[in-house]
Amino acid sequence: ISWRDPSVTLELQLVPFGDNQKLLIGRDVSQLEKLEHMRRDFIANVSHELRTPLTVVGGFLETLMDMEGAVPESTRGYFGMMQEQTGRMRRLIEDLLTLSQLESGQNIPPDTEIDVNSLLNMVMHEAQSLSNGKHHITLEADASLGLTGAAEELHSAFGNLVSNAVRYTPEGGEIHMVWKMRGTDAAFSVHDSGIGIEQKHIDRLTERFYRVDRSRSRETGGTGLGLSIIKHILTRHQARLEIESELGNGSTFSAVFPKSRLTRKTPALANNQ
Ligand code: ADP
Repeated sequence: ISWRDPSVTLELQLVPFGDNQKLLIGRDVSQLEKLEHMRRDFIANVSHELRTPLTVVGGFLETLMDMEGAVPESTRGYFGMMQEQTGRMRRLIEDLLTLSQLESGQNIPPDTEIDVNSLLNMVMHEAQSLSNGKHHITLEADASLGLTGAAEELHSAFGNLVSNAVRYTPEGGEIHMVWKMRGTDAAFSVHDSGIGIEQKHIDRLTERFYRVDRSRSRETGGTGLGLSIIKHILTRHQARLEIESELGNGSTFSAVFPKSRLTRKTPALANNQ
């Protein structure tokens, strides 16, 4: 099929029709696409505009807290709360900006050969610092199994999965990260012994702002956008997110990469690292 009008987007669907025949149905989705574009631009612009004033407010609050005698003891608690809330707003704005950038499909970082071992070590350190010794965290990785992709994006996706495991696992719980082959694919999995998720929520977790327990997410510094961001990053890498969980019995979140994304170092090279 050739199409010459760039202002019209058609969605085509081939459906069975009669005996051994197929019907091609075209739906004009130009208007929908335009609205979607406007929504994305609006969110990106609002987030961008909010960033500067918020940075100024946060900066002055910090200065006041650090300035001797500027904040009387009786009101220090209120100032602390204001700092906490500006921090939350800042995280939210950063996540909204990241999401609209990912959704726009622009500025796609180039694929490179990723040093998976150092990436996993960084993620491990971040998890330990977030957990602050309150969980037992372990890592098991196939050192010869490499990956191609955008290093910063994958760091953010893996880091987010692990930070969720820490945030939704009570003190004393276990978090186990694994990077290894799974059939012809490879998976980075994060198992936790945390609170778990009821089955009915699982399919909706990657929707923007979908949270099983709003107050718990807020308490632990969540924005409700983490899994949407992860899903976009993985889709860009032709990878998928798999979630297995049972309420009260922990969860496993896996980022599964296809063969086309994998590289295999010779054992000799892997051992030298
Ligand atoms: P949030 O910032 O709220 O954590 P996410 O998009 O990262 O947002 O996750 C969406 C929701 O999925 C969370 O609010 C939480 O209810 C649930 N969730 C994510 N990871 C886990 C986990 N490891 N264990 C239990 N629940 C989780």
